[in-house]
Amino acid sequence: MGTVTPLRTKEEPLYPGVAEAPRYSCALGGAYMATLATFGAVPILHSGAGCGMAQNFGQNFAAGLNDAGPQGNTSTPCSCLVEEHAVFGGEDKLRALIKSTIELVRGDLFAVISGCVPALIGDDVAAVVKEFRKDVPIIHVNTAGFLGNSYKGYEQFLEAVIDQLLEPLPAVRRQVNLLGIVPFQHVFWKGDLQAIKTLLEKIGLKVNMIFTENNGLEALRSIPAAELNLVFSPWSGVGVARKLEEKFGTPYAVIPSVPVGPKDTTAFLRFLARRLRLRRSSVEKVIAAEEHRAYRFSEYMAAISTMALPNAYTAIVADAGTAIGLTRYGSNELGWLPEIVIITDNPPEEFHAEIVRRLTEGLESAVKPEVYFEIDSHKIRLLLREHTVQLILASSLEKHIAVDELNAMQVSVAFPVYDRLIVDRTYAGYRGGLALMEDVAYKYGGPL
Ligand code: SF4
Repeated sequence: MGTVTPLRTKEEPLYPGVAEAPRYSCALGGAYMATLATFGAVPILHSGAGCGMAQNFGQNFAAGLNDAGPQGNTSTPCSCLVEEHAVFGGEDKLRALIKSTIELVRGDLFAVISGCVPALIGDDVAAVVKEFRKDVPIIHVNTAGFLGNSYKGYEQFLEAVIDQLLEPLPAVRRQVNLLGIVPFQHVFWKGDLQAIKTLLEKIGLKVNMIFTENNGLEALRSIPAAELNLVFSPWSGVGVARKLEEKFGTPYAVIPSVPVGPKDTTAFLRFLARRLRLRRSSVEKVIAAEEHRAYRFSEYMAAISTMALPNAYTAIVADAGTAIGLTRYGSNELGWLPEIVIITDNPPEEFHAEIVRRLTEGLESAVKPEVYFEIDSHKIRLLLREHTVQLILASSLEKHIAVDELNAMQVSVAFPVYDRLIVDRTYAGYRGGLALMEDVAYKYGGPL
């Protein structure tokens, strides 16, 4: 095994407690984006006016130049708290805002998301929200930004749904929920969810991807009916799955990454066949057909992958799930040599060892990556400078160091992405590896 770790860069930060350009927003941003990703849900921000607008460029636009949808940005009702509310409280203003929103905006579910100011001044937001529960489906998500980042906000949104909206339901055989893919924060979230749903439906599962389902409220309410919850991240969403297990008895499985390419996708389907006691022959039939197509089509990229990037030394700078999926695909199916992986989503310490294990064990390449956990963009630059690589799969923040300093190709695959539009793109599943190679080869530009 190659060198693993250090888990943190050795240098002390220039300004202790401050990180340059971390790759996520605050908890309010995560809950706000999760609400916008739930079709039919209307966010109501109880915060300063800037809290919502900051998410435009800081969260949704940074997710592959995405807009926030019909209820986002300037269309989002906000209490726009100012000094007066810090002194006298903002509850009356929130009450009036909820009332007018319910009257004026058509929605199936209203989500009141409260930020730092109401948390600091002690507004009883939960009590105000409760006054409206007899009229409409409404939840309160307490996301004081200082409590955590976007990943935390995603979990807080689903935890509020579990606590305030969901009722027990009988488990439906072969029904699963997809968790752990954080809207906008995982830049391929829409395509990933749809690709996994389509794939799992082929093996006979009923799949609730929650976000972007046509009826968001119904999708949320059917969460307790799942036979199994699938978490597509080594850590993000695990807390939600644990809560669902405690409250409704639904077991869960952690899939460390969205599977990329035939090998990991086949392993994932076989795992599900065992776990859900599916008819093995039916699952194998799907696997055979999908593998045949994926490998037949990979022959069309044989020349470019062997001539342009034979055994390329790679650097990956991404959230843990994306990094695991791409490292494994590059190493096990393309022959790339993973030189360095930098994890940028700040997973809790308890998950570090498992993430490192997933990034270093089960790789077919001779080279095993050095693994770092780092959120500071300046320190990430310093780490990359220590390595010679040909390809950097990262955020668009690494674009200039790749081109100007390291003479390497760079493809933006992780938050933030400001240099490409990502709407329905995905690297998930059997065809995902081909899509990745298309994007990499586009950067290569061809021999002419
Ligand atoms: S950290 Fe607090 S003040 Fe800043 S945007 Fe988030 S909720 Fe608003």
